[in-house]
Amino acid sequence: MDVRACDLLVVGGGPAGAAAALAARQAAPELQTLVLDRQRFPRDKACGDGLGPGVVARLADLDAAEIVRGRRPVERLKIVAPSGAEVVGELPAIGESARGYVVPRSEFDDALLTLAQDAGADVWTDSRLEGLDSTHGGPVRVEASGPNGSSVISAKAVIAADGARSDVRRLLGVAYNDPAHTGVAIRAYVERPGGFEHMAFYFKRELLPAYGWVFPIDAQGANVGVMIDAARFRRQERRLPDLLRDFLQSSEHQALDPKRSRAYMLPFASHVPPLVHGRVALVGDAGSMINPFSGEGIAYGMAAGIEAASRAVRAVQSGADDRPFDGFDGWFRERFGEHFRASARAKWLAQRAWIADFGVRAARRRPEFVREGIELLVGEGTALSWRSLARLLLHGRR
Ligand SMILES: Cc1cc2nc3c(=O)[nH]c(=O)nc-3n(C[C@H](O)[C@H](O)[C@H](O)COP(=O)(O)OP(=O)(O)OC[C@H]3O[C@@H](n4cnc5c(N)ncnc54)[C@H](O)[C@@H]3O)c2cc1C
Repeated sequence: MDVRACDLLVVGGGPAGAAAALAARQAAPELQTLVLDRQRFPRDKACGDGLGPGVVARLADLDAAEIVRGRRPVERLKIVAPSGAEVVGELPAIGESARGYVVPRSEFDDALLTLAQDAGADVWTDSRLEGLDSTHGGPVRVEASGPNGSSVISAKAVIAADGARSDVRRLLGVAYNDPAHTGVAIRAYVERPGGFEHMAFYFKRELLPAYGWVFPIDAQGANVGVMIDAARFRRQERRLPDLLRDFLQSSEHQALDPKRSRAYMLPFASHVPPLVHGRVALVGDAGSMINPFSGEGIAYGMAAGIEAASRAVRAVQSGADDRPFDGFDGWFRERFGEHFRASARAKWLAQRAWIADFGVRAARRRPEFVREGIELLVGEGTALSWRSLARLLLHGRR
């Protein structure tokens, strides 16, 4: 059996894990960083492939903007109400960037993980974490299996970025989100000569409480999909492929032929579990970091991965590595907690057809409502206060 020791072990090579590994290598090339992923890259991941301005800002932090260079930027987002009325607004600025991109995850994740590897991280793909012992206070002991058999890895700090069904989370005894705080979604790819102009969210009457998206990839096509809360999904009869079919039949997208559909779950940040467990920190979907309104999770996962890595690096460098993630949980809640609470309230409202109609009607008259709505969906907005609700009610009346 292979026995390895490392400073930082990152479990999962998706955007949260790859961002963590890259940040760690950039901050401390002398530390040994190992990434473990059970899949072989490039690999597909069920996703809308939407990279909001938050992702672009994190790529800039990581000096990794090259991943989106030359791709078609998206600068505007459309929201379509149950009545069919629509509003279009600009994407919000986060850092220097007020633009987003739509990049298939098979390409985006592979490019980010490759940068981490080029920066010196050891990357073991096709290698699965099977067991974890973090009970004795010393370095965490991880059992893994891969193409060359079994390994034992001893790590001073572990960043668990192993996704919505995180094995690390389960092994730590942290329950997965219950259906009230989980979404399910299906995506597919469609082609249309000329492509699509904006990123768009559709709150269609015949779909609610599910809602759909169209995210343009290039001049040829888009990623389309439907998302619904898991608790509500269980109570209705339509399966996810039925919802996707109904979405595409009901809209101006009737001629589209969805290909490569794929579904998965989304642990919403309306319930974020304790993130720090001794020498282990949960980030990304493993830590339930998905915006409950939009389903966006990449930006928050990357931000958390980068922050957790920088804390671990400082702890290991100083030799005080028995609590490498001290303060990380509080940092995350402070940074994004209010945004997620406001996004959850906005979703609750948007799932009611008359309120969604009302909101879009108000937004057509007052551009600041469009901006606030978009900031809740793909920014870091916190605008859904009682005061802004009252203003919305005032301006939504005919
Ligand atoms: C249909 C759908 C549409 C979505 N649309 C968007 C969108 O448009 N924009 C957006 O920002 N977010 C979107 N999301 C959410 C987004 O996909 C996630 O938030 C994001 O993938 C989280 O990244 P991550 O790195 O935490 O996890 P993941 O990307 O899931 O990566 C986890 C990695 O861990 C690996 N792994 C798992 N278990 C083990 C193990 N035991 N050992 C080793 N490796 C392991 C997996 O192979 C995987 O590569 C969508 C989600 C769904 C389901």
